[in-house]
Amino acid sequence: MESFIRADQYNFIKDQITTLLSTHTSTHDQAVAHAFKSMTREKVIDLFSDLSNEQKEIIDQVQDVKDETEAIFFLSRLKQHVFTFPPLNEQNIKRLFPKVKKLEVPSLRNIEWGTLSYLGWNDSGSNQKFIAAYKNGDLLGIQGNFKPSRQSGICAICKEHEEVGMFTTSIKLNTLETPISRGNYICKDSHRCNENLKSLQPLDNFIKLMTE
Ligand SMILES: [Zn+2]
Repeated sequence: MESFIRADQYNFIKDQITTLLSTHTSTHDQAVAHAFKSMTREKVIDLFSDLSNEQKEIIDQVQDVKDETEAIFFLSRLKQHVFTFPPLNEQNIKRLFPKVKKLEVPSLRNIEWGTLSYLGWNDSGSNQKFIAAYKNGDLLGIQGNFKPSRQSGICAICKEHEEVGMFTTSIKLNTLETPISRGNYICKDSHRCNENLKSLQPLDNFIKLMTE
């Protein structure tokens, strides 16, 4: 069967399962447990707009997860249907940042592409952060200054409380002569950010803000 789950949807489902399992351990009330199971199923089904019967059958099993072992089994099954971020090589990445002369390309060997909604890495030498992400189906590169914050805060991309920094980039609007500056607080660790991401909307908003 083809892939039909995005990485952020997978993270959402994983998070729902954690909550479901904690309810199983905290309540002995059958009715409450049952209500929670249906609620979890509904939330997960709502992520998708049109599932085939076969896909629905897989997703439906979320309500039957009762313990850690079943969770691991269910999630590993789901993982087989997660879209993978297209693995990029050094050349692909360099092409996304044509103006950067000495681009610090991250080590690509250990990247789990299947867990990514975007690729982000830091060049601490130049205090820059680089992001490769999709906008309306096109892969693009965004380069910005990154200034780590002293305190943790909410990341604009994953919406979690994390070690963040101010990412600023300048964009050229057609109507203006001089580029304008745009910025937002995002996770320092983009790998962690991807693991936190449970919806694509904030990432899309961020990309839009930083490019137009
Ligand atoms: Zn984040």
